[in-house]
Amino acid sequence: MGEEEWLAVKEPIQNGWLTQGPKVKQFEDLFAEMHQVKKALAVSNCTTALHLALLACGVGEGDEVIVPAFTWVATANAVLYCGATPVFIDIDINTFNLDLRQLKDKLTPRTKAIIPVHLFGLCADVEYIKKNFPRLKIVEDGACAAGASLHGRPAGSLGDIGCFSFHPRKSVTCGEGGMLTTNDEAIAAHLDMLRNHGASISEEQRHHGAKPYLLAAFDVIGFNYRMTDLQGAVGLVQLKKLQGFIEERNRWARYYTDQLQEVGWLRTPAVPEGYTHGWQSYVTFVDESKSPGTRNEIMEILQQKGISTRPGTHAVHMLGAYVEKYGFKPEDFPGAFAADQYSMAIPLHNRMSKEDFDYIIRALKSL
Ligand SMILES: *Cc1c(COP(=O)(O)O)cnc(C)c1O
Repeated sequence: MGEEEWLAVKEPIQNGWLTQGPKVKQFEDLFAEMHQVKKALAVSNCTTALHLALLACGVGEGDEVIVPAFTWVATANAVLYCGATPVFIDIDINTFNLDLRQLKDKLTPRTKAIIPVHLFGLCADVEYIKKNFPRLKIVEDGACAAGASLHGRPAGSLGDIGCFSFHPRKSVTCGEGGMLTTNDEAIAAHLDMLRNHGASISEEQRHHGAKPYLLAAFDVIGFNYRMTDLQGAVGLVQLKKLQGFIEERNRWARYYTDQLQEVGWLRTPAVPEGYTHGWQSYVTFVDESKSPGTRNEIMEILQQKGISTRPGTHAVHMLGAYVEKYGFKPEDFPGAFAADQYSMAIPLHNRMSKEDFDYIIRALKSL
């Protein structure tokens, strides 16, 4: 965040248009253009985006939705919000994304959709899913993937609907916020209603209309998942910085990867040919058969040196609510379990200096 974001919030405060209005619209239009889709619709966060995307794909009671076992819990929770069942598949430990070779065995007549997660900003192979499983609806969880792409096609334009997050832990933020993307006008119109109580037209449209006595029609049960114009104003400024942020993160990610080659116990993240990584996080993998200590011991030592690290994310099948509901065991999804135990995100953000990176690299080498 900088001076521009600070100044941007003044406008909605001064003009009094506080919730979804002109700033949200500008934010959406720029987001759609940058991600090469016809429509982008802002919502309150990526979790609500996922919920609406699944509803708009017709997911409901009795349906199954394929979800990777290693992702933020919200990906799977959104399936449960719809009354459907999340069907987990394991990940490829090299990319932390869905192991699509396992997909065929997980499909049943009730499988309605799949949520490929572009984890840490690396796109899942949505092209493969489309080609081999054309019947499946595809909801991209691009929470970490604003600005990332696969063979030149941006995240959010690859499946039926894309979902993005503007939580502070992502590359661009407005505190909390989310975005839906689609090329399907009918889906966009449906999402537009669902995010705004099911109203046929928005407050802004009504405000500028000629018939003040008209209220919107409410023909579907919707939600209040709107984004405020305060957030829209900040998001718009942040979005204009996205390309620069990603270029800078790519430069530093390459620097880490070069410099850390000699740390034999630490596996640096892979970037397969044809992928533009968004680098929401730089997530390494600690090989405990060679490392000077366990992953957790290494994280503690780094912490003492003032270096914050975190596990990449969690194995959802190991979280209490999911263990209780489905009785999962760690070994049900060994890739996800290993990623949960041995992954380690090391610092990467746009306020770090060369000295910061060199300090971290030296600390890792000295272990
Ligand atoms: C952050 C994140 C979410 C949730 O986003 P919110 O905007 O916080 O709701 C969902 N999925 C993934 C993969 C994420 O990283």
